[in-house]
Amino acid sequence: MTSRKSSEILREFVEDHQHFFDKTHEKTIYVIGLVSCLCAHISYFFIFHMLNIKEMMYFNIGSIAFYIVALIFVPILKNDKSMLLYLSDLEIIAHAAYATYLLGWKPDFGMFLLLIIPATFLTQGKRFYIPFIVTFISMAIYIYLKFIITDETILKYPLEDAGILRAMHMINVFIGAFVMLFASASYMLQREYMEYQLVSQRETFKNLASIDPLTQLYNRRAMNENIRTIRRECPTTTTSYVIGIGDIDNFKKINDTYGHDIGDKVLVYVANLFISLIPKGGYAARWGGEEFLFVIPEATIKDGVEFTEKIHKSLRAHIFEIEDCEFGVTMTFGVNTGIQTDKIDSVITKADKRLYKGKNNGKNHTEFTD
Ligand code: GH3
Ligand code: MG
Ligand code: MG
Repeated sequence: MTSRKSSEILREFVEDHQHFFDKTHEKTIYVIGLVSCLCAHISYFFIFHMLNIKEMMYFNIGSIAFYIVALIFVPILKNDKSMLLYLSDLEIIAHAAYATYLLGWKPDFGMFLLLIIPATFLTQGKRFYIPFIVTFISMAIYIYLKFIITDETILKYPLEDAGILRAMHMINVFIGAFVMLFASASYMLQREYMEYQLVSQRETFKNLASIDPLTQLYNRRAMNENIRTIRRECPTTTTSYVIGIGDIDNFKKINDTYGHDIGDKVLVYVANLFISLIPKGGYAARWGGEEFLFVIPEATIKDGVEFTEKIHKSLRAHIFEIEDCEFGVTMTFGVNTGIQTDKIDSVITKADKRLYKGKNNGKNHTEFTD
């Protein structure tokens, strides 16, 4: 699996589970984290009970009570739950420090004093300075313990049994690895989700800036960009693309007779014809009030005229029925071709001139000569 592929899988996962991230993401992460800590401390309680280490048994009862209360607070704290995170960090530090103080370095509880540093940065809440404070506290305790607990120190509970030590070691390594895995995975998913949000936001803005809100066709600005792309991507210098401008006939009369809202409905109907009939690779835009422009790549005048004939045919066959009134709508088109060396503006101007020629020649048809 290439790294690109795996990042695509991650992005797809985040996209497919958007709902999960939107609604319950934070709460679920907190619940999983706190329940895991609770389970870890219940296991520690039984281990210390077996080893008859009273101080740590009592400490773990306190820890278990703390995580239960923290879990109750997850739904209560609506806005900022990060306090639970900071208190958990402190609990982990205190537990690791006290266990190291009583049992020495061998069972590896001291490891948590170091692991808490990346974990606190990865699960950072709203206050950016807290991980620095946590790091300072943890490091200070770690260094202090390094000074006071040496090989010669007489420990209250010196664990000598190799089997018990190994088991303890394994449990701590397992829990430590889980803490890191959980912190890193939630950080990774959160980051991916933020990136996904940014990308979709950017796409929404881009759409808003390039789509006409009434007809959902491209607007003039976006269409100019589309035409430039088609012109640039012409496979040879002699390959032509076709541009056509269509204008609804006597549209003012439709507005005056049936009202502006009905006029809008006619515009939307015509726009949908363009959307459904435009050949693959082509684009259609609302060029002005009731004026539409289309462009088809690698096409001749004949292709352009054929496309406009489809629009004529569909329009002529359609009767608009509005509140007992029936009326038909027709359009006039001017079509022209351009090649890579032609200026886009002059290709459009020529199509426009043909359109006006069509208006003067009785409307309701396509003009493709001067
Ligand atoms: P011709 O056949 O020569 O094109 O005549 P026409 O009446 O269609 O042309 P004219 O340019 O005189 O009128 C166009 C009308 O289109 C005028 C304007 O009020 C109307 N119009 C422009 N934009 C919109 C819109 O978004 N909605 C509606 N309902 N009408 C619009
Ligand atoms: Mg008109
Ligand atoms: Mg007009």
